[in-house]
Amino acid sequence: MNETGNVMVFIEADDDGIVDVSRELICEAGKLAERLGVGVEGVALGNGRTAALAKLGEYGCQRVFYTEDARLAQFTAVPYAKTIAATIRRYQPRIVLYGATTTGRAVAPRVASELRCGLTADCTALDIGDCTIKGVDYADSLLQIRPAFGGNIIATIVSPDSNPSMATVREGVMKITAPRDGATAEVIAEPLELGDDDFPTTVLETTRKRRAVDLKSARIIVAAGMGVADAEGLELCRRLADTLGGVLGASRAVVDAGLLVKDHQVGQTGTTVRPNLYIACGISGSIQHMAGMKESQRIIAVNSDPEAPILKLAHYGIVGDLHEVLPKMIRAYKGQN
Ligand code: FAD
Repeated sequence: MNETGNVMVFIEADDDGIVDVSRELICEAGKLAERLGVGVEGVALGNGRTAALAKLGEYGCQRVFYTEDARLAQFTAVPYAKTIAATIRRYQPRIVLYGATTTGRAVAPRVASELRCGLTADCTALDIGDCTIKGVDYADSLLQIRPAFGGNIIATIVSPDSNPSMATVREGVMKITAPRDGATAEVIAEPLELGDDDFPTTVLETTRKRRAVDLKSARIIVAAGMGVADAEGLELCRRLADTLGGVLGASRAVVDAGLLVKDHQVGQTGTTVRPNLYIACGISGSIQHMAGMKESQRIIAVNSDPEAPILKLAHYGIVGDLHEVLPKMIRAYKGQN
């Protein structure tokens, strides 16, 4: 692979190991790198992660620049940003991708500021293409695609003069491809070029709050919209989810109404999901909701309005009152009349 000009991914880890979004981005980086005829590399920081980083080779990562130090075991923004910026200066990738996680959102703007380069936040798609700006042609730019103006338009953002082009990408948006068993990435030890002053904070303790529901790995999601009307309607959705062995999702309107906590929210500002089956109950199908579930393998929509936009996206639409339809679905699944 080339020494410079590759596609780089910031590899994020927590107590459970490397987080899914880093694998998602390695797979996406592979597609971009193929278009550009370059390689895929990672930048990682931490302590005792060499074996896990090498395994990223299974997803197409060729090498990982790893800065190891006990003080980097827990994420803190200043040393992470400075070290990533130093690695980028050394290896000059043309593209750098970060997960739009709490960590990614804290570190990427600091790196952008350190390197004086552009950063596009919360991308939902990436591509390579040519563009012309003020009469100047640019070939093979990173096309950074994301909803803008409250989700009313999809904007394609380019920063062709920025070196590198950097973007954060929401979790669950990019697909993880099947791993190639046994392939390994070369893990290259990088020096820690920081003094004590670069560690202005010390993490004494970390506490993790468990999510109320794990939407990302659910195979079946029954999602409740404002059509449920009240706690009784919501209970019907919960019963259908339990009957099918699925979990309960929700539109933002339901969360804003205080019927469910935000962990249940699907969509642009909630979780992006791609289950085997998504049953939308009383959900109209706003662009912001569909952005988070349109990749589901099968979509069933139950809605009393035959013109509801969700019915155009759904593979199967049931026009009717969910208070009548859902009990029938539950009974049918249980084999009762
Ligand atoms: P409604 O739009 O009110 O739809 C209710 C539906 O229920 C209607 O289609 C109606 O026909 C149907 N209905 C009514 N009664 C019944 C019945 N008895 N039986 C069957 N059907 C019935 N939304 C999200 O969901 N996720 C997001 O992440 C998100 N992010 C956003 C980000 C921004 C910046 C903005 C501006 C908005 C965002 N929204 C998001 C909000 C979004 O625009 C919609 O307001 C929201 O999705 C609407 O929720 P809903 O479909 O439940 O409600």
